Amino acid sequence: MGFWDSVKDFWGSAKCSVNIHDWGSWSAKVPGNCTQSHTCTRCGKTAGEVNHDWPVWRYIEEGDCMQSRSCKHCSETENRMSHVWEEWRYAAPKSCDQIRFCHRCGRKEVHVATKGDHEMGEPERVSCSHLVRKCKRCVYSDDVYLVTSEYRHRFGPWKPEGFNDIRICLDCGHRERRHK
Ligand SMILES: [Zn+2]
Ligand SMILES: [Zn+2]
Ligand SMILES: [Zn+2]
Ligand SMILES: [Zn+2]
Ligand SMILES: [Zn+2]
Repeated sequence: MGFWDSVKDFWGSAKCSVNIHDWGSWSAKVPGNCTQSHTCTRCGKTAGEVNHDWPVWRYIEEGDCMQSRSCKHCSETENRMSHVWEEWRYAAPKSCDQIRFCHRCGRKEVHVATKGDHEMGEPERVSCSHLVRKCKRCVYSDDVYLVTSEYRHRFGPWKPEGFNDIRICLDCGHRERRHK
């Protein structure tokens, strides 16, 4: 073996040792069996794989969504459900739940509305520290509690008090002061 051949051989074995083989071509299929094998041209390792020859999926019956396919080469058969869903739509005019039906079998699916599904309106004031947001479609609402610096007071008019003006929140009595 020449020098360059031995270098190639060294790197080849290194690759095989980390499972990067130099695979030969696949063996021909035996009738009725879809298992094929190939062999590494360097280390002689053999690996097998099942390669079926599938036709397209076909529905078995009208009005039913079970599909089937049988390998053209062996007897392997697979089934799966394949519904043909129409678009999601609201379950009722005042509901945010959504439903859809299968065109073929009539099966119904329900998507119960979660937080992000509602059409929330603008926050409405309940008190100085509490807002509520209501869904425009259904009865869902959620509460927003404000931090002190964001309180939405309902002030009365400014009134002079000594060298300042003050105004008082009609709800909670909070006082705000400004220089005249
Ligand atoms: Zn190998
Ligand atoms: Zn097969
Ligand atoms: Zn269906
Ligand atoms: Zn809603
Ligand atoms: Zn207030």
